[in-house]
Amino acid sequence: MKIALIAHDKKKSLMIDLCKEFEDVLAKHNLFATGTTGKLIMEETSLVVTRMASGPLGGDQQIGSLVAKEEIDMVIFLRDPLTAQPHEPDVSALLRLCDVFNIPLATNYRSAHIMLSAIKVGHL
Ligand code: PGA
Repeated sequence: MKIALIAHDKKKSLMIDLCKEFEDVLAKHNLFATGTTGKLIMEETSLVVTRMASGPLGGDQQIGSLVAKEEIDMVIFLRDPLTAQPHEPDVSALLRLCDVFNIPLATNYRSAHIMLSAIKVGHL
């Protein structure tokens, strides 16, 4: 599967926790991430990630473009709902495209955990 990983700043440590817990699972898939999220994942784990631009500089839109081309199979986007984001329109656009193309999307840690657990046991 092609899996996109994105985390807003206050959720990046949760993303790292998730990537460490599911490192063996994620290692078997093609991973994509926005710039800073991808950089941190590669620093903190042995996972290899294709990095897009940083989210506020267009990275979410780049991931959205892959979704629109049906080149992404799952999106894990750990959003921070309590902090205003300068690129909120890009975030909304990406979430919308996931719904347009019926792409599994997790926007919080527990949803992401359920989806990765499903992959682990072969249900996705
Ligand atoms: P980042 O972007 O991984 O470059 O921080 C994430 C975002 O804010 O959408």
